[in-house]
Amino acid sequence: MSARDELAIRRSIVEACREMNSVGLNQGTSGNISVRWREGLLITPSGLPYERMTAEDIVAMQLDGTCEHRLKPSSEWRFHCDIMKARAEVGAIVHAHPVYATAFAICRKDIPAVHYMIAAAGGPTIRCGAYASYGTADLSKIALAALEGRKACLLANHGMITTGPDIAKAMWLAIEVETLCKQYAAALQIGKPHILPDDEIARTLEKFSSYGPQEFEPSKQPTGFMRFSARGENG
Ligand code: 13P
Ligand code: ZN
Repeated sequence: MSARDELAIRRSIVEACREMNSVGLNQGTSGNISVRWREGLLITPSGLPYERMTAEDIVAMQLDGTCEHRLKPSSEWRFHCDIMKARAEVGAIVHAHPVYATAFAICRKDIPAVHYMIAAAGGPTIRCGAYASYGTADLSKIALAALEGRKACLLANHGMITTGPDIAKAMWLAIEVETLCKQYAAALQIGKPHILPDDEIARTLEKFSSYGPQEFEPSKQPTGFMRFSARGENG
């Protein structure tokens, strides 16, 4: 990986930070983002307004938390490093304080399977971890436990964390989780939400593995489709 790759990642972090705020996922200087880089990670500096942040302001850090930069790394560097250490599949981490996810976190509620899209977060629930002061090793332990077998979690009276193989997927998941929380909050206003069973979420996870734009190969379609098109009944 070259210096050009590093600059591209630094720029993508700054862009994602600004997007977090412009799409309403976050506000002010709350939240932070990291991307795995070489043996460590690249992480947002602490408390710097995103409009003023430049690629050079992003801090390069080792996974043991050491760094050399004129700016302090995010106060949440511990959970960013600990998640990267514990979860080899994670390439990027987004932390934000979005209104609906944080409202459930304030009520210290796990999110149940109120919509099949919860499978995007890895399982039938999104756990809410207990409260610990921001930036502490205790909060990092709580985050790791809440993320067990999942790609996202809530943090009590604080916000959410999402992960992904890259920054685009971690950002996408952050928006999905916040949307799910918004839908759940709306449903609670209307009545008693129905919760999907675990086996339906397992089936959804299976389906997700082949979801998205794919080459259309008639030979791989179920036989029913073949009969249908072979008879020319589809138009
Ligand atoms: P930083 O600006 O230090 O990243 O802190 C923001 C935050 O969300 C702390 O939890
Ligand atoms: Zn925070």
